[in-house]
Amino acid sequence: MDRSDHLSFLNRKEGHLLSTIVQKFGGTSVGSTERIKRMAEKIIQEKSKGHDVVAVVSAMGKTTDALVKLVSEITSEPSKREMDMLLSTGEQVTISLLTMALQQQGVEAISFTGWQAGVRTDSILGNAHIQAIETGRIKSELNVGRVVVVAGFQGITEEGDISTLGRGGSDITAAALASALKADRCDIYTDVDGVYTSDPRFVKKASKITSLSYVDMQNLAVMGAGVLHPRAIKHAKKFGIPLYIKSSFENVGGTLIHGKIKQNGPIPVFGVTFEKDIHRVEMFECEDVEGFREAFMSELSSRHIQGDVYIQRCRNSLSLLIKKQDLHEVLSILEKEKDKWKYSRIEERSNLSKVSVIGGDMKGRSEIKVGVCRMLLESGVRVKLIGESSISVTAVIEKSHVQSAVECLHTGFGLDYKDTLKASV
Ligand code: ASP
Ligand code: MG
Repeated sequence: MDRSDHLSFLNRKEGHLLSTIVQKFGGTSVGSTERIKRMAEKIIQEKSKGHDVVAVVSAMGKTTDALVKLVSEITSEPSKREMDMLLSTGEQVTISLLTMALQQQGVEAISFTGWQAGVRTDSILGNAHIQAIETGRIKSELNVGRVVVVAGFQGITEEGDISTLGRGGSDITAAALASALKADRCDIYTDVDGVYTSDPRFVKKASKITSLSYVDMQNLAVMGAGVLHPRAIKHAKKFGIPLYIKSSFENVGGTLIHGKIKQNGPIPVFGVTFEKDIHRVEMFECEDVEGFREAFMSELSSRHIQGDVYIQRCRNSLSLLIKKQDLHEVLSILEKEKDKWKYSRIEERSNLSKVSVIGGDMKGRSEIKVGVCRMLLESGVRVKLIGESSISVTAVIEKSHVQSAVECLHTGFGLDYKDTLKASV
């Protein structure tokens, strides 16, 4: 019997339920030393119930943005290796301060960077995927009763370089660690108190969704709901780890994300998501637009670049919607492959936003797309591009219209918080 078997045996004998909990604290939750001390209390609460606790943290407040800004003062083309070296420092500050806050309260704790925690990633720097986590060191610290505090968002490549997982990547670390440790729960502490029908900081009438399947949450996250990184859900789903999204500051119920199948069948539309800052790159007069799309998408995916690709047959063009951070790389791929992919010219547009309505099963429900177009038109929002899939309808619009577009779709699809509606009548 190794020590962990022994411990759980002892705990069972004494009637305790020993389990492993992963707690993740986002940037706002650890934005000051005062807040770090408050989060330490949350860890101590779980620890005192007899659980093994692993805490995963983000960089303090807007630290990562500030680091990115420093880079822009030096170069517009930083090397990916040095970028990851720099960005990984943000989380390293938080792990040590949080560990000190725990020790100050008499709780035994130890901090680990990504590589110390055994987080192995592929070599796509800046957007690396976790391939495995060697949990030996974490487990032996848990076995001697310590809280383990791990830096989110980072790992190490096979070549021994520090890698980062892409913005918002601490969620991924938490869910992947919870899976690797077969944890009983992964709690994501954040600055909103759960998942809403739309971002509650933006849409006042958004209402909280208390329970969601992995698939529905995945669809919201992929289409822009910033509350949880989409790749975190994949890791949790693999081993059925429940994810609980809750507020760091208020003691109210959050949103539970789990593998249970819904009883009542899919609801047509349950969320409106948006991405405020989207760039569009359009390639005109393509010789083989289908072949181009296929080759382009596979090139993007080999670099882990997320984007939507649309063919516009009327002008024989291929359009790509991407985040600003990927623009530079995408343009250099297009330039390199120009002769192979055979298009005549490129046009770039910024100041665009993407608004999507998300549902469980939209296959064959053309009235949803028609509804989106009509509602936007009635609100004076011009649609530049519209696309649909089995779970979403997405419209590309001017950035200046995003607030009215999201609000009109939220109201139009009956998602407004009923009490708010009543109160405003
Ligand atoms: N600090 C990183 C970011 O700001 C990772 C995270 O917060 O999840 O994107
Ligand atoms: Mg986040």
